[in-house]
Amino acid sequence: MFFVLPKEYREASLEELRERVGAAKAKLGRRLCILTHHYQRMEVVAFGDHLGDSYGLSKIAAVQEEADIIIFCGVHFMAEAADILTARHQKVYLSNPLAGCPMADMADMADVTRAWDSLKRFGGEKTFMPISYMNTAADLKAFTGKFGGLICTSSNADAALRYAFERKEKVFFCPDRNLGQNAGIKMGLKPHEMALWDFSREQGGLTDEEIERAKIIVWKGHCHVHTNFTVQHVDAMREKHPNAQIIVHPECIPEVVAKADTAGSTSLIVKYCADAPSGSTIAIGTELNLIDRLAHDHPDKTILPLSEAVCPVCPNMYRTTLNCLAYCVEKFADIEPISVSDELRSDVHLSLQRMLEVQ
Ligand code: SF4
Repeated sequence: MFFVLPKEYREASLEELRERVGAAKAKLGRRLCILTHHYQRMEVVAFGDHLGDSYGLSKIAAVQEEADIIIFCGVHFMAEAADILTARHQKVYLSNPLAGCPMADMADMADVTRAWDSLKRFGGEKTFMPISYMNTAADLKAFTGKFGGLICTSSNADAALRYAFERKEKVFFCPDRNLGQNAGIKMGLKPHEMALWDFSREQGGLTDEEIERAKIIVWKGHCHVHTNFTVQHVDAMREKHPNAQIIVHPECIPEVVAKADTAGSTSLIVKYCADAPSGSTIAIGTELNLIDRLAHDHPDKTILPLSEAVCPVCPNMYRTTLNCLAYCVEKFADIEPISVSDELRSDVHLSLQRMLEVQ
């Protein structure tokens, strides 16, 4: 995709952009709803009607009744989910159409189909339930819905696994290996019960015995932001701030999750910081824009990134600037909304509906 923000928006001052976004919002009133993800820049979040993680924002999108213009400040898969969960007359726009998610791109539908075909020998859909993370493109969500599975987020991955194991013997989990493994470990699964599917290799690089032993087949995808954190970062933080509580996102590697005090979704991290007593020190292993905002919102607490040796900024979330938002809110009529094809809609809807039912 090619997208260049018009010069007028590129060169506007922050002050002018604030005025323009504010004026457009006032003019559109209840027709407009701006959804902002927790990883967005502070000046963008300031104009959001709702702030949340992908799970929370999809629930909010699903109950929008008055707004017919929904602007998503996040990444592409989130806007696709909002398009599915809203009515057909409601249009969803992604404030920067170039904002994608590399993790979602790691699960290409052709590779997933090849993997699913290979699993037919091991029981196929009678044995396996697909669970796909919210961070996937619409075609993978449709595949998941079609084969009786559901979407999960970092908020409900454990519940999604329970849902699956009540109905099927095994799970085929895409695309985040760490979220899948962390949820499996939480359920008490042993390492040999979680097999890693390397999509670049024949039969995922697994032997027949490894597939037969596995309770979960986990796709070899990852988030390049959360996998920045290492056990050495946890150790160094404990040494420097012995009183710090360490909380990490479950997209971090299992070794980091095991060493942290708590692991949880973005909304859990936000709540954890809000609920912590004044004077607490909290070190967080997640995206930097969120950590900075939490530190700003809770000046009575010391809120730090788990490590200063890495810069855990999601470059795709960071693509959305106030310049983009101003353009989107003023020129939405000239912008192509995010729209999932009719062919995929009902299966995607099924997978998302199951997600919303599983807490
Ligand atoms: S933080 Fe990771 S998973 Fe989330 S949008 Fe960025 S790359 Fe994707």
